Amino acid sequence: MPIWQELSWPRIKECAEKGCVVIVPVGVIEQHGHHLPLDTDAFISQEIARAAARRDTEILVGPTVPFGFTPSNKNFSGSISLTAGTWMALIREIVRSVHRHGFTRIALLNGHGGQVALSRSTVAALQDEEGIRVVVLNWFGLVDKDMGRLFPDEKMPGARVGHAGAVETSMNLHLREELCAQGSLVTHLGPQAPPFVSKVGGYVQTPREDLSPSGVMGDPTLASKEKGGELFELAVERLCAFAREYRETE
Ligand SMILES: [Zn+2]
Repeated sequence: MPIWQELSWPRIKECAEKGCVVIVPVGVIEQHGHHLPLDTDAFISQEIARAAARRDTEILVGPTVPFGFTPSNKNFSGSISLTAGTWMALIREIVRSVHRHGFTRIALLNGHGGQVALSRSTVAALQDEEGIRVVVLNWFGLVDKDMGRLFPDEKMPGARVGHAGAVETSMNLHLREELCAQGSLVTHLGPQAPPFVSKVGGYVQTPREDLSPSGVMGDPTLASKEKGGELFELAVERLCAFAREYRETE
């Protein structure tokens, strides 16, 4: 399993010559309710990328970027939020370095819902201003329909992955059960945005604590280690399929 920072420079060079796909896991350190670790988004992305690289040696996993942009969660203890400009600059400089070493197939595997729009803007700017093409994937986007199939009882308005709800809790149970405080599950099924904007499909930045005092969006009591395992497996398979196709693309 090639992991960028564990290789020597001649091996990185070999990977570039082979045309490896570089997948950079990106996440954030932010509150995930009373029961999940702060690095949930970065860790899940990283583990999916690493599992894919164990199956396909032409996937090279870039260094995980744990820092993210999370203005809505920044007031909860432990959250670390970069400003949007800093985050964009960070990602652009990492991608520029990867590209400089000869890699032309680069993807970000994002795990943070609050960073989807910013990730897209960042890669659009990279392409527009520097001609570097980068694909943005969200791990939860790889399994969007499966989340609904596996957790049909989590009746939550808004984005399906939620926040520290059934999906993320199941993934953590599968990957690191020992870090899940299962005695501290809090359910919150309220809207993920104020009703006056969500009714018309609008968006406004809202402090999470104004919507959910625990920080949770979803029902973690519906989580299951087995379903987490199934979701993880599907995400890994789809990431491998993506990498195969990406390599074949001009
Ligand atoms: Zn999360």
